[in-house]
Amino acid sequence: MTFPQLNLEPMATLNFSDFSLNNDLQKALADIGYKHPTPIQEQTIDLALKGHDILGIAQTGTGKTAAFCLPIIHNLNKTQIKTAPKSPRALILTPTRELAIQIHDNLNSYGQFLNQKYTVIFGGVSQGKQVNQLRNGVDILVATPGRLLDLINQKHLSLKAVESFVLDEADRMLDMGFMKEVEKIIKLMPKVRHNLFFSATMPPKIQTLANNILYKPKKIEVTPQATTVEKIQQTVMYVEKSNKVDLLIHLLKSNKKHKTLVFISMKHMANRVATKLEAKGIATAVIHGNKSQSARQKALQNFTRGDIRVMLATDIASRGIDIEDITHVINFELSHMAEVYVHRIGRTARAGTEGKAISLVTGEEKSFLAHIEKTIRHKIAVDKEHPFHSEEASQAPVMGVGKAKASLEAQFKKARRQHFRQKPKANVKKATTRTSRPSTKSKRTAKKRPNN
Ligand code: AMP
Repeated sequence: MTFPQLNLEPMATLNFSDFSLNNDLQKALADIGYKHPTPIQEQTIDLALKGHDILGIAQTGTGKTAAFCLPIIHNLNKTQIKTAPKSPRALILTPTRELAIQIHDNLNSYGQFLNQKYTVIFGGVSQGKQVNQLRNGVDILVATPGRLLDLINQKHLSLKAVESFVLDEADRMLDMGFMKEVEKIIKLMPKVRHNLFFSATMPPKIQTLANNILYKPKKIEVTPQATTVEKIQQTVMYVEKSNKVDLLIHLLKSNKKHKTLVFISMKHMANRVATKLEAKGIATAVIHGNKSQSARQKALQNFTRGDIRVMLATDIASRGIDIEDITHVINFELSHMAEVYVHRIGRTARAGTEGKAISLVTGEEKSFLAHIEKTIRHKIAVDKEHPFHSEEASQAPVMGVGKAKASLEAQFKKARRQHFRQKPKANVKKATTRTSRPSTKSKRTAKKRPNN
């Protein structure tokens, strides 16, 4: 795994050697090439080493993974207790498979000179290998909620020995409908433990959860570094919805040396757009929640290696993905949440490189744009130099975000109804001739499945 470096100039006063992290960790950090702690690391590591509970408000890209991993590795290493089979000493709970894999990779790098065992478990793959690893003993377990509870229910795992607990991306857990699972998991751990809680935002439900989990926490808040956003050349292209795919094709074809991540909000749209791009000879990787784990991994690998230069992704599936040298981020649609915009465009301009972010904006989405610009305090330049510029969209009236969102949702529902009305009748027959009822499990999963 390669470790892109964050731009840390404004905070480059502390060194990792200023923390009381053990020599093996210092050696690993030097090996990876981290020189100075990021703001979240600067504020978290020392307090967490002393055993304080942490409430960290920080997004992916701030260096939060090292902020929670390093103190946990250090503290567990200090006591040197041999782990019992199936009983990890620390649990890092994170919402997506991709994030889980990334945290596990980071643990392996940070702990490369230590004798600790790290394991990652997530759904969508067979459980045999994971069960074997748990049986062999684990110091730090990284897990997504569903598979964790499955393995606990099957007695392959117990949380009774957990000394340290990290809840990562708590607000995403809520968005993805994992709140009940998280609450269940918390009840299965010892009451006295060290807690590190991280969330990009703090809506009331997350605040309540934090209050229930944390004991006299130290609150640490870092906003995404302004420089990150400023380093990115951001533009808006006004376009009619029906021309978006053509504009995307135009953009992808007019630049030969690019590596582009395209954000798209709906899974079915991602598939449809990918098919259209492929038809125009543009090789495209796609990741979203309906893809199998192996398909997602393969897509990521192809894109990371640069074998495929375009990846379409939904927000949740791409959460936390850290790929070097992405030259362009294209927002196929704008999100109504400014922080999503900041998170998306932050996928480019990593490792001190330049990056471009282009947003394809319809008249309706113009209201989201106004909200984003207000939040990031930055007026995004309009690029009219493309064949699909829509003057009508650029002149559309701006309304409140709530109203604009409701109007877009109503349009979407209407389109959906029309789509299903047009479906051929053959499907109906298939449904009525089914002999067995769907299992309760599959019904449950269907209900819970996040719309990513
Ligand atoms: P994270 O927010 O934990 O996903 O980290 C974002 C990126 O920053 C990852 O590529 C890390 O490897 C990198 N990173 C984390 N901490 C540092 C540091 N102190 N110096 C340089 N790069 C870092």
